Amino acid sequence: MKNKEYLLIPGPTPLSEEVYEALGQEIIGHTDPRFIKIYKHAIELTKELFRTNAEAYVISGSGTLAMEMAIVNTVSKGQRLLVISHGYFGDRFVPMAEAFGIEVDVLQAKWGEQVSVEQVVHQLKKHDYKAVTVTHVDTSTAVMANISQLIPVVKRAGALFILDGVCASAALDEDMSKSYGGAENKIDIVLTGSQKAIGAPPGLAIIAFSEQAVAARESMEQIPAYYTDIKNWRKVMEDPGAYFATPPVNLIYAYESAMKLVLEEGMEARVERHDKYGKAIRRSLHAFGMRSLAKEEVAAPTLSCILYPEGIDDKEFRRRLQVKGIVVAGALGELAGKAFRIGHMGNTTPEMLEYTIRQMAVVLEEMGHKVSVGAALKAFREVLAVETV
Ligand SMILES: *Cc1c(COP(=O)(O)O)cnc(C)c1O
Repeated sequence: MKNKEYLLIPGPTPLSEEVYEALGQEIIGHTDPRFIKIYKHAIELTKELFRTNAEAYVISGSGTLAMEMAIVNTVSKGQRLLVISHGYFGDRFVPMAEAFGIEVDVLQAKWGEQVSVEQVVHQLKKHDYKAVTVTHVDTSTAVMANISQLIPVVKRAGALFILDGVCASAALDEDMSKSYGGAENKIDIVLTGSQKAIGAPPGLAIIAFSEQAVAARESMEQIPAYYTDIKNWRKVMEDPGAYFATPPVNLIYAYESAMKLVLEEGMEARVERHDKYGKAIRRSLHAFGMRSLAKEEVAAPTLSCILYPEGIDDKEFRRRLQVKGIVVAGALGELAGKAFRIGHMGNTTPEMLEYTIRQMAVVLEEMGHKVSVGAALKAFREVLAVETV
């Protein structure tokens, strides 16, 4: 691995050799048949990842652009959107939808907890919602949504199910062909970015639409968007030689390469691997006397939000870790200074995580907090060693 630092933040994440190699290939024209082939393949792999035969879009932008693309193509001004929020990124849908004149209601969980399914059922009875947004993993709180319970509830209410997968896609199951308690109860939109569990550089907005979501766009005439209107991009996705706006050639090389690796490993293996990483890293950090913000039942496989023990200064802790070549992120909002966030997704390996545990032990000791590195490593290895069938 080329990465000299362990970039254990919730995105961007470490890149594999293959992806660096792809990124640095000679630039060619975006209508060159050699590029068209790669772009086409990248779009096909995206459909394969989400198991959809309907539509996928891969364009320049970040995860936020994909969020905007999801709502602007499905919900009209004056229609209602319900936002289920487990933190900062869930909340982001609110001002975004308001900017387009959409009527927004939001169900916010206490940070570290999930919105209850009963609350969602209750809210869905109050109004006719065109769509509901759910953040698969909210990167501020490291809380994972329980989509298998939410999908049937949302679909029975006649709303589109929009899933923000920016910190989950390629690590958690987001199979758009799967039915949840009824044939019609499927995910309508998954949106994501390139730089988190997929393991490509930042810069791509990625989104898949079900047939029902496509139909929602078709039933709207004009929408208050141009760059993010899927109607402008459709011809490019069908034939990447067509022009709408110049695609980021080298990023597409890198994304295609990262997606090949994702699908070679396979989603089943990736879901299991991330699940183990999450459990293992949290068990080991708990052995240091630290606590996770989220309860284990709702804690994400891709990153963790860990509360500091009494007396540990956030900036100093992270500065000392960075000197040892490990980068973790601070916490957001009210938690800033009280917790740190550690990513364990994509190309992160058990070796990287073990090294991190060792170095964290050193830093905690340096800062006057006595810990047992042996107990933490033992906890980590025990979880990884569990055979899953
Ligand atoms: C990172 C993130 C976003 C925003 O993505 P950008 O690429 O930074 O625009 C949105 N939602 C979630 C869940 C995220 O983790």
